[in-house]
Amino acid sequence: MALSFRLSLREETEPPVCSSCGKLLHPREKGVMFNCPNCGEVLIIRCSQCRKGIVSYVCPKCGFEGP
Ligand SMILES: [Zn+2]
Ligand SMILES: [Zn+2]
Repeated sequence: MALSFRLSLREETEPPVCSSCGKLLHPREKGVMFNCPNCGEVLIIRCSQCRKGIVSYVCPKCGFEGP
């Protein structure tokens, strides 16, 4: 049973993924992270490309859509 290594991994170790395109954000990439302006409970992450192209995002919790 290989349970032990997975149990210690929680949200804090989740890699940042762009909320618009779903791409993994590189640590050195100039992405932006902010809480959803509507519900404030979800961290919205946008990569530099989506920020430049003003791609819209949708909050997975409340469905808020914004630039
Ligand atoms: Zn993106
Ligand atoms: Zn929200």
